[in-house]
Amino acid sequence: MLYRKYRPLDFGQVVGQEHVVRTLQGALESGRVGQAYLFAGPRGTGKTTLARILAKAVNCAQYEKTRGTLAAQRVPLVKIPCNQCMQCQAVNIGNSLDLIEIDAASNRGIDEIRNLKESASVAAAGGGRKIFLVDEVHMLTKDAFNALLKILEEPPSHVIFILATTEPHKILPTVLSRVQRFDFKRLTVKEITEKLRTISKAEKIDIEDEGLYAIAASADGALRDAEVSLTKIRTVVPTGAISAQQVNHILGLIPSSYHPSFLGFLLNGDRQKAVAIVHQIHDAGLDLDHFAKEFLAYARKALISQINPSAVVAVEGAGVDKELAQFRSADQTKLIAIITAFTSARVQIKSSPIPQLPLELAIMQL
Ligand SMILES: [Zn+2]
Repeated sequence: MLYRKYRPLDFGQVVGQEHVVRTLQGALESGRVGQAYLFAGPRGTGKTTLARILAKAVNCAQYEKTRGTLAAQRVPLVKIPCNQCMQCQAVNIGNSLDLIEIDAASNRGIDEIRNLKESASVAAAGGGRKIFLVDEVHMLTKDAFNALLKILEEPPSHVIFILATTEPHKILPTVLSRVQRFDFKRLTVKEITEKLRTISKAEKIDIEDEGLYAIAASADGALRDAEVSLTKIRTVVPTGAISAQQVNHILGLIPSSYHPSFLGFLLNGDRQKAVAIVHQIHDAGLDLDHFAKEFLAYARKALISQINPSAVVAVEGAGVDKELAQFRSADQTKLIAIITAFTSARVQIKSSPIPQLPLELAIMQL
């Protein structure tokens, strides 16, 4: 699995969460690492990865040597965690006794938290800090949550809690008040594309740029999902070059070339060609609901780019350049009508006896 092989091992390798990285490095530098953190954000955005990096950093032999005097000794923080010392390596191979990972999705009950409490009262095996990473913490039962809260109220001084969740709104306010919260953001298509390019180079995967872009765009901000997709593609096409067409085919994606043509036909009122595209997609066995969703995202991008083109470029990278010309010339009133029509058409696709029909109607009504 490429995502395991290329999982970031230090702060410098983390993609896209600069605000979190900077704050944590600042805490390490000043020797004021907190005792309870909440890492909140969508799946696949690096919460567990950063938790492991922090766990390594606080117990790293290199950090121990220089703690509190990092700035004075000019030890560059990029060297922490060092990934060389025993403590770092134990975390990297997954057998550290001082990093305890609990998946609250499958261990939800009060007993788990009681065990945790007992374990927290015992000193760290390596003599440093003991880090508890509770993943999907919102899944804990009410009793378990309350028990966790009790521990968070007076945590033993050698303990650090990192609670991770994809659903921070489900966390009790009493818990929120005890933790330092970091919100992890979805990664941009540009950030994901760049990471995929680095991996492809290292793995000698010869893949078309447009293909990388298609994988990134389909990942909805989750780098891990994109890396899993790349692994899947490499498995299906074990040798030789990989085209964008193959990427679309393997992942069941709608070729991105459909979107500009479809939007063009709608803007010009060419109903015949627009309907033909719908039929073509349906006949190719692709999912029309999925197409409608992606097309809406594309039309929305056109709308946003009319207000703020640089924002679109910042998020999408160079891949968007050729689209911008079309976006610029699009009539805004028509664009809004198209988005409105397809938003309601998409709702109807699932209940329609003929999946093409709502899209055809939307085209006719425009
Ligand atoms: Zn180390």
